[in-house]
Amino acid sequence: MIKRRKTRAVYVGNVKIGDDAPIVVQSMTDTKTHDIEATLSQIYRLSKAGCEIIRVAVPTEKDAEALPEITKNSPIPVIADIHFSPRIAFKALESGISGIRLNPGNINDKGKIKEIIEECKKRNIAIRIGVNSGSLEERLLQKYGYPSAEALAESALYWSEFFESVGFYNFKVSIKGSDVLQNIEANKIFAEKTDIPLHIGITEAGPAGRGSIKSAVGIGILLYLGIGDTIRVSLTADPEEEIETAYNILQSLGLRRKGIEIISCPTCGRIEVNLPDIVYKVEQSLKGKDLPIKVAIMGCVVNAIGEAKEADIGLACGNKSAILFKKGEPIRRVLEEDMVKELLKEIEEMEKNGE
Ligand code: SF4
Repeated sequence: MIKRRKTRAVYVGNVKIGDDAPIVVQSMTDTKTHDIEATLSQIYRLSKAGCEIIRVAVPTEKDAEALPEITKNSPIPVIADIHFSPRIAFKALESGISGIRLNPGNINDKGKIKEIIEECKKRNIAIRIGVNSGSLEERLLQKYGYPSAEALAESALYWSEFFESVGFYNFKVSIKGSDVLQNIEANKIFAEKTDIPLHIGITEAGPAGRGSIKSAVGIGILLYLGIGDTIRVSLTADPEEEIETAYNILQSLGLRRKGIEIISCPTCGRIEVNLPDIVYKVEQSLKGKDLPIKVAIMGCVVNAIGEAKEADIGLACGNKSAILFKKGEPIRRVLEEDMVKELLKEIEEMEKNGE
C-alpha cells in the first residue's frame, strides 16, 4: 500500500487537490479555445471519460473572450493556461475560471505576478506554478550551469515562497524536467521540503504508445514514492487517451479505480481461439461502465482458472467453447460464438445484483 506524502489542500473550483483527496485526473483541450462549441463538446467528452479538471490554452484575446461562455457551461472546473501574457491573464481572471497556470519564470516581473496573485485571491482562483527548464531564471542557470533537477526544485521553492510571502496559499506546483529521471529527482527534492501539492506528469511524452509508457514510468515512480496530488498524462493523441492512461496508471498502483478491470493472458501455443478479438469485443462493450470488478479472459483451461482466481468473473477458452467462471468456480460451458454475449450477460446480472 502506497503511503502518500502529506500535503495541504488546494481547491480548483469544487475539486479538492491534496490532503486526503483522491489523486485528481486532468487533461487539456486541443481545440481552438475561441471555438466555443468545439471546446465545450470536447470538455463534455473528457469529463464523461473521467477528466476532473480541464485546462484550456488562452494564447490570444479572442480565446480569453470565449472563456465566460466556456466556464459557464463546463461540467468541470476550467483552468486557463496564460503562459506569457499578463494582459490576457487579467482578462481570463474575469471570466469565471477556477484556476490559472502560469510560469512565473516566463513573466519574470514580480510586480505583475503580485497583481495576478491579488486578483486570484479576490476571486478565489487557484494557481498552478509551472517550472520547467525553459522558464528557469538566469541566476539559477548561472549557479548550476544548466537546468539541473536541483535548479528546477530551487526555482519552484523560490516562487512558492514568493506566493506565500504575499499571503497566497491556494496554489500547487508542477516541475517538469527534460527527461524522466530529472523529472523524478526535481519533484523529490521539492516534495521533501514542502507540503505544497504537486501536479505531476511527463511533458511532451510523445505519441500514444511510447508516451503512455514513458508517462507510466515517470508518473508511476513518483506515485509509488507517495508524490503527486494531481496528474496529467501528455500524449500526442486524442486527450481521451490521456484520461484512460491516467486511470490505468492509478489503477495499476491501487490508487484509484475506474471502469472495469480486464485481465487477459498473453496467449501461447495452447491457444485455440482468437483471443485478441474476444478481448477487444469485451473491452469495447464494457467501455463507459464503471464497476469494481475484475474480468479475466484466458486463452485456455490449463492454467486459466488458477491464474485468474482473483478475478470476479472470466472465460477460460478452449476448442470451440469456453468455461465461464465466477470467483474461481466454473459455472457453465459456453460455445465459442456465444462467449462474449454470455460473459456480458453475466456481468450485467452482477451489476443488477450489486455483486
Ligand atoms: S492461459 Fe493458456 S493460452 Fe494463455 S498464456 Fe496461459 S497457458 Fe497459454
